[in-house]
Amino acid sequence: MITRTKHQLFTMLQQKGRLSAAIADLANQAAIEVAPYLDNLAQQRDYHQMRILESFQEARLSEYHLGLSTGYGYGDTARQTLDQVMAQVLKAESALVREQFVSGTHAIAAALFGVLRPGDEVLSATGLPYDTLREVIGIDDASGSLQEFGITYRQVELTAEGTIDIPALLHTIRPTTKLVMFQRSRGYSLRPSLSVEEIGQACQALAEQYPHVITFVDNCYGELVEAKEPTALGAHLIAGSLIKNLGGGLAPTGGYVAGKSELVEKAAARLTAPGIGSHVGSSPGGRRLYFQGLFMAPQVVYEALAGAVFAARLFELLGFAVTPRYDEKRTDIIQAITIGTAEGVVAFCQGLQQACPVDGFVLPEPNAMPGYADPVIMAGGTFIQGATSELSADAPIREPYAVYFQGGLSQTFVRIGAVTAAQKLYEQSLVPALRS
Ligand SMILES: *Cc1c(COP(=O)(O)O)cnc(C)c1O
Repeated sequence: MITRTKHQLFTMLQQKGRLSAAIADLANQAAIEVAPYLDNLAQQRDYHQMRILESFQEARLSEYHLGLSTGYGYGDTARQTLDQVMAQVLKAESALVREQFVSGTHAIAAALFGVLRPGDEVLSATGLPYDTLREVIGIDDASGSLQEFGITYRQVELTAEGTIDIPALLHTIRPTTKLVMFQRSRGYSLRPSLSVEEIGQACQALAEQYPHVITFVDNCYGELVEAKEPTALGAHLIAGSLIKNLGGGLAPTGGYVAGKSELVEKAAARLTAPGIGSHVGSSPGGRRLYFQGLFMAPQVVYEALAGAVFAARLFELLGFAVTPRYDEKRTDIIQAITIGTAEGVVAFCQGLQQACPVDGFVLPEPNAMPGYADPVIMAGGTFIQGATSELSADAPIREPYAVYFQGGLSQTFVRIGAVTAAQKLYEQSLVPALRS
């Protein structure tokens, strides 16, 4: 492709001695090549921004909802307003948006423990679930898991192409199967993330044949990436984290559960206690950042996606396998890049960390993490601890040595992060396309 456009960002980084000419040139090429693919993402952002704005206006959000409450939070109308707005954004009957959820894992666990009873079976329709959920379910040993409460587990593998095997799924249901779970995002695996349409088809097929079976979606990293959420296409219950997509980089903590009112209330009874359910819960720090974060979420998801598209093309030009590719449809914000070696994974993460606004001087190393079986290296100097949606890269130290790169408060920041990671690999002679 012949064009004279020069992206000043890379020239500037090069002049400052932070990038080699070879990396700056490929970054420039990647930026030029991905430009035509960003428009669709911007259109989607506009669509969600409009919807979210309307839901705020319909809920008559007022300055007084942005303040704080304490104690039980009785009569805290902001809590209900936030739930109502979120339900509308997700096209769900109800939502439970709470800072008392410490993470996505906690929200998902509350949903599962809330709905399941001893003797029930959970069936995963998307193979082995995300690392931290294996302990929640009891696939990996953990005190207090679903398994300890007499709830059994089985899984149906995805097809060789990484799609849901609907015939096998229907065939595997037993009378005790109470809940079928889907994981929308790829997690730490190289399978494609699932489209909401595909999840919707599976939910529909289940509803026709097994109307009593509850469909649950781990919605982490997928929110606002497509036009609709699984709740709009038949999923009964979904859950996710607020320091990912829907917190817009501003929510300081928290998670959500959304779906059928009766099921959401069961999750609430598990989060708080039977009887008080969703009717309590204060916000001592105030709810402004939750509302503001949700309002900003379409923009932040756009920045993350646009940045991921650039990173996909850059690392492909550098000779690495990437998924998804820059021109493929995206259904979550994760960019997987197969680096191929443990030292390469570490170099990538250390390079990314160097580009971060907080703790940019820290060198991350692989470590044991609660909830994860393999050592994990995590890079991301974020304003909110562990907020992967600000920009982060993480990787379990295991075959095939892939890094999972996601988030980005601004597209420019993602570009700086990606090229700095590339530079670090280059300095250690780990870039296949630039080996001398
Ligand atoms: C992030 C994530 C979770 C929950 O993780 P937390 O770190 O507890 O928020 C669950 N499933 C998937 C697929 C995820 O990406």
